[in-house]
Amino acid sequence: MTKKDPPEQLDASALTFPEEGVVEQHVHLGGAVPIHRLFEAAVDRGIRLPVTSYEEFSHLLHRRRDNSGSLEKYLEIYEVAERIQSGPRALRESVLIALNGAARTQGSTMVSLEGEALVPTRAQLPIKALELRLNPMKRNSGGIWDLDRVMLAACSAVSEVKTAYKGRMKAGLIVCLGRDLPMDQNRVLAEKTALWSKQGLPVIGLDLAGAESANTLEDPKNLEEMAEAFAMAGPKVGRTVHCGETRSISLETFKKTLTALKADRVGHPLVVARSYWEDGDPSGLEFLCEHNIVAELCVVSNLLTSAVPDIATYGRLLKLFDEFNVRYTFSTDAPALQKTTLASELQLLLDNGAATPEQLEKSFATAADSSFIPEPRKGSRGKSRWAGSVKAH
Ligand SMILES: [Zn+2]
Repeated sequence: MTKKDPPEQLDASALTFPEEGVVEQHVHLGGAVPIHRLFEAAVDRGIRLPVTSYEEFSHLLHRRRDNSGSLEKYLEIYEVAERIQSGPRALRESVLIALNGAARTQGSTMVSLEGEALVPTRAQLPIKALELRLNPMKRNSGGIWDLDRVMLAACSAVSEVKTAYKGRMKAGLIVCLGRDLPMDQNRVLAEKTALWSKQGLPVIGLDLAGAESANTLEDPKNLEEMAEAFAMAGPKVGRTVHCGETRSISLETFKKTLTALKADRVGHPLVVARSYWEDGDPSGLEFLCEHNIVAELCVVSNLLTSAVPDIATYGRLLKLFDEFNVRYTFSTDAPALQKTTLASELQLLLDNGAATPEQLEKSFATAADSSFIPEPRKGSRGKSRWAGSVKAH
């Protein structure tokens, strides 16, 4: 980037990107469709909404500090987005919007009031791959829609985008199990994940999401059940877990959970830093390093849920991870509902001296290296140390 470039783009002058572009690993479909598109879809399909005007809807769904503040509050309105995205037709459209959005938004640091990128054509941050996650069980309207058809629709959108972009945009879907779902539903999701990935659909990973307080997995029986479900998903998918974002998860439970679920990556593992800062316990940091588990960090989301209190603490967090050789990547989590882009979140780190260009570059390399999206030319990636080789689809 040169000095004459517009200020609304990521100041990437000191950044070098991997040849293959940047991979974004942690984006939820429920948070990746712009609010006005969700509203239009709800009106189109006659879906009942908790409010009556667009202004109220927009205010309700936009994730800000004043209506977030905790993970539970942050997650509150996802149910609305999930309801609108339910059924094969709506889901296909949502996945298309999310993937197109990532490809189009790319390096823009400015978004419109509606959450659309303002400078879509001169991107500086080349997002070339998106791992999009969703819980299909929360998109089938309580069983009205057939789960296989729902997922097939999402997968067909991924294939369509890959074809439309002539291979320049890679994508894959991560299936989220829910801490808030009954275990029999989680088991169905895991079994289906194994089936879908075996059938060659672009299902690349398994995740555990939802409010941590809904099922902390502290009870060994609950953890065993979840581990069995994760095992059912089979060896073709990578494994990530939302774990340790809130104080509901103790450091011991964190380590036991990641071990039992054989995690390759972990979403928002803030418990390891808290335990070090507050109790002088480095064992969580050492654990992540020793097992080479990659931390998926989402800057604005972590600030909104108060998982990280402020941007200065974010800087300390990154330094601490570097000190203990904990690898990390950056993603947006819910770009449309936060009205952010990956570029704007990285810019926030740079502007506040919370990250150096070198740290960001290292994160891009880590994201490429730990991506669940198979590289067709290389065939088997073998990313999962726990499950043996993860075959290309
Ligand atoms: Zn997340």
